[in-house]
Amino acid sequence: MNRQHSTFNQSIPSTKKKSTRFTKVAICPTCQKGTIIASEKFYGCSAYKDGCKQTFPGYLAKKKLSPTQIKALYTKGETALIKGFTSKGGKKFNAKLKLSQGQVVFHFEEQTTSPPQKR
Ligand SMILES: [Zn+2]
Repeated sequence: MNRQHSTFNQSIPSTKKKSTRFTKVAICPTCQKGTIIASEKFYGCSAYKDGCKQTFPGYLAKKKLSPTQIKALYTKGETALIKGFTSKGGKKFNAKLKLSQGQVVFHFEEQTTSPPQKR
């Protein structure tokens, strides 16, 4: 006999796993298979078990990096200007982040921080 649809056991949760601890950010640019996921302290590739070592710190120059910024970094190769970094000397500075061969680097744009002097 065929099993009939059982509509009464709705209390059984779906097979969908809850992922409250990890947030998917973007497809990993290094292996193209894994997903960059955000944990509490850092970002990393979900395919690390397969040998992908793409990681990214959650903090950079004392600034917490949001998944949005990380996503921009991985999908576009750079972020928008991020304000509020703090250098080792305690100075505040603004910079973009760029992805260079899997490494994250600061990118300072030529800016006219001081207005041109008129005489
Ligand atoms: Zn990866």
